[in-house]
Amino acid sequence: MNTVAVIGAGASGMMAAITAADAGARVVLIEHKDRIGKKILSTGNGRCNFTNIHQEPVCYHSENPLFPWRIIEKFNARDTISFFLQIGVYSKNRNGYLYPNSDQASAVLDALRMEIDRLGIEVRTGTECREICPGKRGFKIRVQSERGEFIRADRVILCTGSKAAPVTGSDGSGYALAKSLGHRIIPVLPALVQLRCEGSFFKSIAGVRAVGTVSVWSGMECIARDTGEIQLTDYGISGIPVFQVSRYAAQLLYEKREAEAVLDFMPDFTKEQTGAFLSARAKTRPDKPLEMFLIGLFHKKLSDLWVRLSGIARGKHAGDLTEKEIEKLTGLIKEFRVRITGTNSFDQAQVCRGGVDTSEADPDTLESRYIPGVYFAGELLDVDGMCGGYNLQWAWSSGYTAGRCAAGESAESAEPSRRQAANGTE
Ligand SMILES: Cc1cc2nc3c(=O)[nH]c(=O)nc-3n(C[C@H](O)[C@H](O)[C@H](O)COP(=O)(O)OP(=O)(O)OC[C@H]3O[C@@H](n4cnc5c(N)ncnc54)[C@H](O)[C@@H]3O)c2cc1C
Repeated sequence: MNTVAVIGAGASGMMAAITAADAGARVVLIEHKDRIGKKILSTGNGRCNFTNIHQEPVCYHSENPLFPWRIIEKFNARDTISFFLQIGVYSKNRNGYLYPNSDQASAVLDALRMEIDRLGIEVRTGTECREICPGKRGFKIRVQSERGEFIRADRVILCTGSKAAPVTGSDGSGYALAKSLGHRIIPVLPALVQLRCEGSFFKSIAGVRAVGTVSVWSGMECIARDTGEIQLTDYGISGIPVFQVSRYAAQLLYEKREAEAVLDFMPDFTKEQTGAFLSARAKTRPDKPLEMFLIGLFHKKLSDLWVRLSGIARGKHAGDLTEKEIEKLTGLIKEFRVRITGTNSFDQAQVCRGGVDTSEADPDTLESRYIPGVYFAGELLDVDGMCGGYNLQWAWSSGYTAGRCAAGESAESAEPSRRQAANGTE
């Protein structure tokens, strides 16, 4: 029987351990924190958005763009839903975003932990992996723990996560382990994270939420765009659309290129329509003081800011606004430009872009192309997903394939549909 050591007991590591044990391997799950699966508890605001029924290749990013989808297809959202149902987690669907029916992330973790117990997986918490030494017969894993210095295994799966939210255990130490085995690390940057922007006025609009489009520009080039509820903070911008574009801003800043965010607070209207709308509005109530002109359309703090930034003389009334002044207001509403000065740190990031170069792992098995017997799964690899359940889906899918293959199954027979067909259950 093969002994598989899984290093890192996050989402991908627990899935890899369960599938390897289910495929017949003896499994040791090594975790340096005092308990397993800490990050899962903070996912989805404590509710755990564990997958999404809308799946497309564009939901996953990597320098090697076709790689993530090959793995997702082998264990997809449907397989994830059935897997969790089997271990007791009934799912709740909110517009395609899936959560445990109890709305408790702890339910997902408890179910995984019970499965780990049921399969007799040896869990070694408080055990830090320091080095992986390949030998003639398997691997010697040097650890820091109370129970000894070495663990031996025939196969090793590295599931140490990224640098995002290091308080949960993902401190980036896995990159050094992968590097010591000869792997290239694509620069690791915060993603799904808030953006810091220039402008002392941000303090005056902190706390405002508004539906809009945020696009990231570098010079004349629009790099990314997303629409949803933008949250304004005292240092810049946050909210799901900002998270979605943040990976592109992080890369621009890393390359020391200019990065600008353009906010559109009337995304359903063109610039011309917005101008015409404001002109008509001015004519309907010409006596309204300028300070009241945008009230009812936008949050008062935003209206005040635009009036202030427009430079229009105080004391004017709506009916006195010139075409140029309407144009100025329209520009602020439709194309509010701010320079991006940074992202928030890894502490606040939900994931990272970058990681172990996926061209150095077999896209069918996730085995290292350099050291046979070493496998990778989860965020440690250069794969990040969109916000909405895609990062956990990546963790489940990659953990599944790495676990099955490390246990000795062929890539093909590991696919759930083939397994079910072979067992006569489909
Ligand atoms: C606040 C927050 C909310 C999120 N919400 C969602 C969501 O709702 N939906 C979604 O899809 N994604 C969400 N994500 C992202 C998702 O949680 C991660 O992508 C996913 O958990 C990554 O799993 P992983 O197994 O690769 O890494 P991790 O879960 O980070 O696990 C890595 C594990 O390895 C251990 N480890 C690291 N180094 C060593 C070492 N040297 N020795 C031993 N152990 C080690 C760590 O302690 C950790 O337990 C969220 C992330 C955060 C931070």
